[in-house]
Amino acid sequence: MSDTVEPVIVAIDGPSGTGKSSTSKAVAATLGLSYLDTGAQYRAITWWMISNGVDVNDRAAVATAAAKPVIVSGTDPAAPTITVDGADASGPIRTPEVTAKVSAVSAVPEVRTRVTELQRSIAAAADKGIVVEGRDIGTTVLPDADLKIFLTASPEARAARRSGELKGSDVTATRAALLKRDTADSSRTTSPLAKAADAVEVDTTDLTLQQVIECVVTLVEERRAGR
Ligand code: C5P
Repeated sequence: MSDTVEPVIVAIDGPSGTGKSSTSKAVAATLGLSYLDTGAQYRAITWWMISNGVDVNDRAAVATAAAKPVIVSGTDPAAPTITVDGADASGPIRTPEVTAKVSAVSAVPEVRTRVTELQRSIAAAADKGIVVEGRDIGTTVLPDADLKIFLTASPEARAARRSGELKGSDVTATRAALLKRDTADSSRTTSPLAKAADAVEVDTTDLTLQQVIECVVTLVEERRAGR
């Protein structure tokens, strides 16, 4: 019998504020897998567009520039990193300006093609397997993933969690901004936010983070055992 364990690919999709990042990182760390935050990559491209004076609402300009930024993602779940043209982008990609503009940039097909290729090459290089979180991982990026999870939660729960992360920002305004971004992400033509037909949906509204993590870890272990 061989000691080699087949790499396992886990896709975790869902709208913002469902606990995707915290869950994905913890599941990857628990199971010794790599971790990829694909939202950070779209944010990094958006930051580059803003820094280089590209109008994010000019789809042709965004498409032309899409191949220029060099995005590198570090996939250790204990310390994920992201650089753009060699510079650490982990702080700048979380600003309200980037958050407000990322849906416009991520809707441009040339941007998606570029980032999707990058994501597939990172997943293919992960020896032990990887947890990839995003919006279109199960449907488009890794349609053959071993396990697909779609996380949901009520808009109220999502807004409350997000405003907690943003240190007590106004819950009503946070809820409106979240719903606006989800609508843009779900209604774009190219690979919108969607649940794959074979994804397991987990409603996190009434679950603690620990419960969600345990649920997903169990699902991965069951899948690995071939059940
Ligand atoms: O996950 P996060 O909120 O950081 O994602 C930021 C944005 O990146 C999303 O609102 C969406 O526009 C885009 N995104 C995407 N496809 C993914 C991941 C993120 O379009 N797989």
